[in-house]
Amino acid sequence: MNARIPIHALATSDAGCAEPPVLRERGQREVFCGLTGIVWLHRKMQDAFFLVVGSRTCAHLLQSAAGVMIFAEPRFATAIIDERDLAGLADVHEELDQVVQRLLARRPDIRVLFLVGSCPSEVIKLDLSRAAERLSHLHAPQVRVLNYSGSGIETTFTEGEDACLAALVPQMPATTGSEAELLVVGSLADVVEDQFRRLLTAMGITRCGFLPSRRAADLPAVGPHTRLLLAQPFLATTAKALEDRGARRIPAPYPLGVEGTQAWLMAAAEAMGVDPIRADTALAPARQRATQALAASRARLAGKRIFFFPDSQLEVPLARFVARELGMVLTEVGSPYLHATHLDEERALLPPGTQLSEGQDVERQLDRCRAAAPDLVVCGLGLANPLEAEGYATKWSIELVFTPIQGFEQAADLAALFDRPLQRRARLAA
Ligand code: SF4
Repeated sequence: MNARIPIHALATSDAGCAEPPVLRERGQREVFCGLTGIVWLHRKMQDAFFLVVGSRTCAHLLQSAAGVMIFAEPRFATAIIDERDLAGLADVHEELDQVVQRLLARRPDIRVLFLVGSCPSEVIKLDLSRAAERLSHLHAPQVRVLNYSGSGIETTFTEGEDACLAALVPQMPATTGSEAELLVVGSLADVVEDQFRRLLTAMGITRCGFLPSRRAADLPAVGPHTRLLLAQPFLATTAKALEDRGARRIPAPYPLGVEGTQAWLMAAAEAMGVDPIRADTALAPARQRATQALAASRARLAGKRIFFFPDSQLEVPLARFVARELGMVLTEVGSPYLHATHLDEERALLPPGTQLSEGQDVERQLDRCRAAAPDLVVCGLGLANPLEAEGYATKWSIELVFTPIQGFEQAADLAALFDRPLQRRARLAA
């Protein structure tokens, strides 16, 4: 069950009477489905394979979202459910077994195979957990077969990662010792993970694991001494599964921008019993470099108005970053879901009076966007082109998920992602 908790009840009680209430909308939405997560997850998990059990539409989505992979041996594919399957003329489980058999024979490097559900597999009520169990039995111990759903019915695209990581939690070994261990959860680019490892070590935190791990054999352990640090705000189900195994979440903002990264790492230090002066000293050089690197973008972006459409669930931390570190003015911050607990620290850092919205009714939101007349709109691909045609500068929110943006070293790159569309527009106007 999804552990999402609507925030509207909280908004009136904890946000103070000066805060505008959270706008909650349930209408037509413009978001990608959870299959999109495969594009970054297959890069991260180097011995995993993602087999989507879906339609030709699913195959097209994946192929166009991860187009560059057509030149390489990809680690994802689609087992197409065709008319015979839909009409009940074929045994889908038998066909799936044969596809998996052929795949594993051709790709002996695969250690984890994810069967990824889609809208069509949900419509025909294909039980992929049963299939995963059966196939795991057949191919153990070389290959673990797991399943999750990336279906576009009532989900948004980052939920695919949440579902995938939640499927890994039961596979994680149990911790054995009694010392606290840090577990960083959320897919990070390898370069970012390496930077965080170095900073954590410099702070004095060496007992540390990352989920997902790059290789299946390196899955970190979890247990009552695990202190869980979320690197992404869209991992409600995974966090719940880890908490069910005893892990305790460290309340913190997310590592976006200098301020977010500093607070995130210092929260880890506090939870792990590290002396705050030692931790802060270890972070100081990287923090100072990052602060200086932000200056140019801040000079150009301060005072510019920005509107966030709901898409990636990264919107609240991003809004906090652009408002506090780049001086931008938030007109509306929309997010598909606002987790009542996981976003507490972020919400407290937003400028007073920030208009938050949860869910979407796209036409009404477009009207609000036009009325706000922002300088920059952050939105999904489906809205970007029409808004550009109307004269708005846009930033594709999916780019903010594909690009390494976490940590001190990436703070200036993150600022540049907001800066570039405005610079481009200024050059075109000139
Ligand atoms: Fe479309 Fe559903 Fe397949 Fe996603 S899972 S590509 S929304 S059919």
